Amino acid sequence: MPAAPYQPPKNGAKIIIVGGGSFGLSTAHALSLKAKGYDIHVYDREKIPASDAASTDINKIVRMDYGDDLIYQQLACEALPIWRQWNEEVKAEGKPLVYNETGLLLFSRNGKFPDYERLSMQNIRGAGYGHAIEEFPTPESIVERFPQFSDAVANGFNIAYLNKYAGWCYSTGAVVHLYEKCLRNGVQFHQNGSHSTLKELIVENGGQVKGIRTVDGQEHFADLVILATGAWTAKLIDMEGTLTATGHAVVHFKPDAETCENYFTKDFPVWSGDISYLGYYGFPANHEGKVKVACHAAGYLNMCEDGKVSVPRTKVANPDDTLPHNSLIEYREFFGKFLPKLNELDIADSRVCWYSDSFDGDFIISPHPKYQNLIVATGDSGHGMKFIPIIGYKIAQVVEAVDNEYTRAWAWRSAGKGRLDSMRLLTKTDRQELGKGIARFAKPEELKANAIKAKL
Ligand SMILES: Cc1cc2nc3c(=O)[nH]c(=O)nc-3n(C[C@H](O)[C@H](O)[C@H](O)COP(=O)(O)OP(=O)(O)OC[C@H]3O[C@@H](n4cnc5c(N)ncnc54)[C@H](O)[C@@H]3O)c2cc1C
Repeated sequence: MPAAPYQPPKNGAKIIIVGGGSFGLSTAHALSLKAKGYDIHVYDREKIPASDAASTDINKIVRMDYGDDLIYQQLACEALPIWRQWNEEVKAEGKPLVYNETGLLLFSRNGKFPDYERLSMQNIRGAGYGHAIEEFPTPESIVERFPQFSDAVANGFNIAYLNKYAGWCYSTGAVVHLYEKCLRNGVQFHQNGSHSTLKELIVENGGQVKGIRTVDGQEHFADLVILATGAWTAKLIDMEGTLTATGHAVVHFKPDAETCENYFTKDFPVWSGDISYLGYYGFPANHEGKVKVACHAAGYLNMCEDGKVSVPRTKVANPDDTLPHNSLIEYREFFGKFLPKLNELDIADSRVCWYSDSFDGDFIISPHPKYQNLIVATGDSGHGMKFIPIIGYKIAQVVEAVDNEYTRAWAWRSAGKGRLDSMRLLTKTDRQELGKGIARFAKPEELKANAIKAKL
């Protein structure tokens, strides 16, 4: 039975937000700034920042380059001044920067920009940010400006552009910064245990959500529940096939201080290596000298025993997990062509990080059509972190039933045939099941520099 039309919460309403990642915290913060006296409670199964949340990481890309997805381009432009403001705030506290504007260097192959890169430049210029774009139309122009990438250029990554209004965020730092802002604004937190882990919603009269039941059996009543549970969402509630958890392999390197300084620090931007077709991207060294590389592609599934939905499998329950063996081989092959320096290094750390992947690559931030008093704020599809300073204001507009281009774009919709986001052209049928067959986890000795190199 469809629920009655959504009613926004009244002044003083009690609001439970489940999930203390970037979507949940940003929402809690935005709602705490309202002069409506909301009583806001955030529940998280882990201690915030949750070690296995998608938002907890050494870095994520911040970019306004979104092909023809103008809504995200605009949202990223709105987030930029807040990132810069947060930098001032953390600097004053003596903490590492949360936003590092190193620029993003996007490589393409065969002397031609694919649609994603071409449309990104066109639309960024159209929005008045053309001064941030520098094109490198020839192999020589790339090498002259970025000699570290001469192997990539020699191997066909021979056209590129730099967006100077881009870079990387220290995402764990941003989560902690926002968590502290929420605490100062009176948000109540419940975390790190069965008392804070959602088991199920309390639902009455066939669809009225009255609150949540936690794993310890306790009931917590509220006027509105917001599920911001990232990749865990599809297991917690029926999302009608709009969402699935997909796992993505990430690798870290820890070069020695000299290599780090000479190679991965000085004038080293965030880079992408033909992201539309290959998916690879990487970062300069962070404040701890760690270098991360990841791949925005189809990802892996980890199906529940009932075979109905994919759920995150993380180091919280499986501390010895590494990355899938076939991803390891593909990474080493790619590095051989793009950044051979990385093949001289052991993989110091690896992880499978989980997207809450929507069928169309767009967020799903909406009242759930089958329930009253329930909003889902999810479907990040692997590109939500850059919006942590701003997404909560947009989620608060969904809470308060404001009609605008964002709330319309992310409203509930049926899972159609689907498309991926503008820079992910791989099909969903490429997905393998994590930990099985060629996607078995790599053994620790296989993470050493020479283990795979010898076989390439
Ligand atoms: C490999 C990888 C690379 C990425 N790269 C980028 C990038 O470069 N740029 C970018 O903008 N974005 C990137 N993203 C996407 C970004 O990380 C996500 O969009 C963002 O972190 C999503 O935030 P979230 O709050 O929805 O989910 P999460 O951060 O995962 O938070 C969900 C929270 O819900 C909690 N939770 C789950 N179940 C329960 C329960 N039952 N009870 C209580 N709490 C619960 C979890 O503990 C967690 O804290 C990347 C993601 C991955 C995986």
